[in-house]
Amino acid sequence: MKIICVIFALMHQTYSSKLLEEAVEEFATLPGIGRKTALRLVLHLLKQEDKEVEHFGRTILRMKEEIINCRECHNISDTEVCPICSDPYRDKKTVCVVESIRDVMSVENTQQFTGVYHVLGGIISPMDGIGPADLSIESLEQKVRLKQIKEVILALSTTMEGDTTNFYIYRRLKDLPVTISTLARGLAIGDDLEYADEVTLGRSLLNRISFEETFKNNNHGT
Ligand SMILES: [Zn+2]
Repeated sequence: MKIICVIFALMHQTYSSKLLEEAVEEFATLPGIGRKTALRLVLHLLKQEDKEVEHFGRTILRMKEEIINCRECHNISDTEVCPICSDPYRDKKTVCVVESIRDVMSVENTQQFTGVYHVLGGIISPMDGIGPADLSIESLEQKVRLKQIKEVILALSTTMEGDTTNFYIYRRLKDLPVTISTLARGLAIGDDLEYADEVTLGRSLLNRISFEETFKNNNHGT
């Protein structure tokens, strides 16, 4: 009963300022931020110097307006080609395919990968209405064809959707002269890449295996 009263009080909190209320509502739209935390953050900002709040706001606006996607790998970047793709010491012939920019960060944190990335922008998920055409699979195929890529490492989450996407990409690339490998399953089935610890992910990357072999093994017992 007490909890219900608190929730009711929070939902019907009255503000002496409409502007404050609007700011709280904006912050509360952020993931993981409830109205109580939103109010705390807004009141904190209200106490700051004008120039600090201005800098805060301008930083967010600039991020939104100026960040672009790297034309090579679709990772986020401040420049047309991201620092990873323009690094002369990275192996441009080895491409690690990941679902999102957060997965690029996860793999980079392992410090075990010296190739480049290709960010798909999601995985095939009919339930969510995401098909192959919604992802950057076409540009991956073009890249493999035109840039004589030697190896494509499929580093997607070990979920059903991840497996479906792996298999779709494999079918698109299998007749091209490229090695297709996938992470060794130090990763548990159902694991999201971004939640894997660095050692496990790093080891899975180093011990990567031929995707075709996993496919054959999976079907052996069925
Ligand atoms: Zn890039």
